[in-house]
Amino acid sequence: MTHIEIRNASKTFQRNGRKFAAFKNVSLTVERGEFICLLGPSGRGKSTLLNALAGVESATEGVVTIDGETPKAPSVRYVTIFQNYGLLPWRIVRKNVELGLEALKTPKKTRREIAEKYIELVGLSEVKNEYPSRLSGGMRQRVAIARALAVDPEVLFMDEPFGALDPVVRMKLQDDILKIVKQERKTAILVTHDVEEAAYLADRVVVTTPNPGRIKKIVTPPTPAGRRDRASVDFLLTRDKIFEILRTKSSENVDYVI
Ligand code: ADP
Repeated sequence: MTHIEIRNASKTFQRNGRKFAAFKNVSLTVERGEFICLLGPSGRGKSTLLNALAGVESATEGVVTIDGETPKAPSVRYVTIFQNYGLLPWRIVRKNVELGLEALKTPKKTRREIAEKYIELVGLSEVKNEYPSRLSGGMRQRVAIARALAVDPEVLFMDEPFGALDPVVRMKLQDDILKIVKQERKTAILVTHDVEEAAYLADRVVVTTPNPGRIKKIVTPPTPAGRRDRASVDFLLTRDKIFEILRTKSSENVDYVI
C-alpha cells in the first residue's frame, strides 16, 4: 500500500486580495522507508507542502494522504524537525527529549529510558543534563533529532534542518541522520535548497520549479542512499545533473533516472 500520496494537490493563499498558489498540481507517491528530498531555492512551496503532509496546513485542492488519511492536525506519528531546533531553554537535554513522551503520557521511568536511548544514539550522553544554551548548534540539532525519534514517529519531516550549521558539522549530521533513518526504518521527507545535501541523502530528489511550486523532475541517484561516497563519480554526476535540471526551463513532470 502506498504510504504517502500527493495527487494533483494545490495550495492557494490570498495575497493582497488576489489568489496566489504556493504549489500547484503536485503529484508524488512515497513508499514506506523512502528518503525523499524536496529541492529548490526558496519560494517554491516546499515548506507549505511539508506542512500539508504534517497536518499544519491543508491543501486547497487535490489529495494529500498518509496511509490513506488526510493529516488534519499535528501528530506524534509525523514529527517535524526545523532549522531553529525548537528546544525549550529552561529544560535540560534529557527533559527536552522527553517532551513528546510527556504528551503521550508515557510513564516517567519509561520516558527516561527512551530519552536516554536516543540521546545515546545521537551521541550526546555526556551532555544529557546540560541546558541547550551550553550546546553548539550541531548539538542542539542532535537534541531535536533525538526528541523527534523518541516518540517513534512513522514519518520524519525535516525543514532545512541543517541550514544553520557550518559545513563540517552539517556533513556529520547528514551522515548521522541518514544512518539513523535507515536503521530505524523511518520514512523521511526533507526540504532543502542544498543540491549536494539532496544528492547525498535522498533515495529520490524531487526538483521543484517556482511560481507556482511544481515538480520539475524526480532524480533517482544510481547508488542507494546510505551507501554513497561524496567523492564518488556517481555522486558528482548526480549533483551535476541536478544543477543542470535546476538551470533548464523545462517544466515536464517526469521521472528522470540517471
Ligand atoms: P519554500 O519552502 O519553497 O521556500 P514556502 O512554502 O515557504 O516555499 O512558500 C511558498 C510561497 O507561499 C511563498 O511565496 C510564501 O510567501 C507563501 N506562503 C507560505 N505560507 C503562507 C501563508 N500562510 N500565507 C500566505 N502566503 C504564504
